[in-house]
Amino acid sequence: ASYSRIGETDSEIKAFITLNEENAKQQAAALDKQLQDGGERGLLFGLPAGIKDNIVTEGLLTTCASQFLSNYNPIYDATSVRKLKAAQSVTIGKLNMDEFAMGGSNENSSYFPTRNPWNTEFVPGGSSGGSAASVAAGQVYFALGSDTGGSIRQPAAYCGIVGLKPTYGLVSRFGLVAFASSLDQIGPLTKNVEDSAYVLQAIAGYDASDSTSANVDIPDYTSALSGDVKGLRIGVPKEYLGAGIDPRVKEAVMKALQVYESMGATWEEVSLPHTDYAIATYYLLASSEASSNLARFDGVRYGVRADDAANLIDMYRKSRSQGFGPEVKRRIMLGTYALSSGYYDAYYLKAQKVRTLIKQDFDQVFEKFDLIIGPTAPTPAFRLGEQVGDPLTMYLNDICTIPVSLAGIPAISVPCGIADGLPIGLQIIGKAFDESTVLRAAHAYE
Ligand code: GLN
Repeated sequence: ASYSRIGETDSEIKAFITLNEENAKQQAAALDKQLQDGGERGLLFGLPAGIKDNIVTEGLLTTCASQFLSNYNPIYDATSVRKLKAAQSVTIGKLNMDEFAMGGSNENSSYFPTRNPWNTEFVPGGSSGGSAASVAAGQVYFALGSDTGGSIRQPAAYCGIVGLKPTYGLVSRFGLVAFASSLDQIGPLTKNVEDSAYVLQAIAGYDASDSTSANVDIPDYTSALSGDVKGLRIGVPKEYLGAGIDPRVKEAVMKALQVYESMGATWEEVSLPHTDYAIATYYLLASSEASSNLARFDGVRYGVRADDAANLIDMYRKSRSQGFGPEVKRRIMLGTYALSSGYYDAYYLKAQKVRTLIKQDFDQVFEKFDLIIGPTAPTPAFRLGEQVGDPLTMYLNDICTIPVSLAGIPAISVPCGIADGLPIGLQIIGKAFDESTVLRAAHAYE
């Protein structure tokens, strides 16, 4: 059913880079047989899953939507993929994204842009735009995405589905091609909150292969979905509803807050005073980490090598010049500059300090409140091509998601309205490792 749906819709939506049809069908048949032989059903038994193309899959092309990795066939599964297999879901294929997860519209994919299923003239968001569009178009039951500064939550909002960025360290990053290692997290994109809880249950947990993996107890996320939010205290940051926020988005968020009130929760306006510095901080830190992480792509170890090189240095230069697209090059240059001696203190070190202030903003609010609620993105999806020539405007779309990433805390985006035929996302932000409360509040509202 999944492949026939893809057949009907993907020539228009273009969510997939690679399909895994033959293997998936074999896998499904094996699961069937196992059941007939009296075997138990795993948590995600038989559910068709799409995987963002920066999460490595054994024997299945993993391109990061880059020309550099157009021939990269990993020899192992990411921990999250291994866990999905253990839960008996079936991998349908690999989903489109902005190259190396750098972007917010899917237009930075070096293959083709994915389209928003609600209106194909609009972007699906990014960088996990293929993941969001595929779930929204009913091609897969759920997808994995990665979120460094909003890349799960923003496309979920633009495509009218549910996207969860877990606490940093909750889901193993082993096998996630690194963009900015101190920010990257894998998480589920699903049609509803219950599915999100199930997928999180399957992929969360300590992994010795990831040095930043948190050794915490994993609660039963689905049993947290009680429908009860009575007495929950919600903080609403004034910085997330001020200038630059589309009035239709603000209205939808205010309506959602009324719903919470009617269910017995309370809300109050709060302040996250360093929000204004979040975008500059993020783009310095994320680009710095990216410039270091992407040094491994040298034409020797992974992917494509330029074949017309005169010597070794020329081979590095040509492979990198040909392999990376313009946004990736922009960030490597910015990050290399920020890390270079003489500039390190002024940019990288300063940004690290501001990151701490941003985290403290959240700590202070969470002393009095259980959750923070605001929009996921300032506007609904924009038209394809509308912002592609203007990276700074594109960067501003991340204003409500980036501070959360810098603080390392969990947040979910759930649909909260429609404006001119395009969905709007509500962002529910929680304390570190308190996914249960985030999911409970999202589920009660949904
Ligand atoms: N849009 C942001 C960026 O371009 C976020 C990307 C992400 O979360 N991977 O960096």
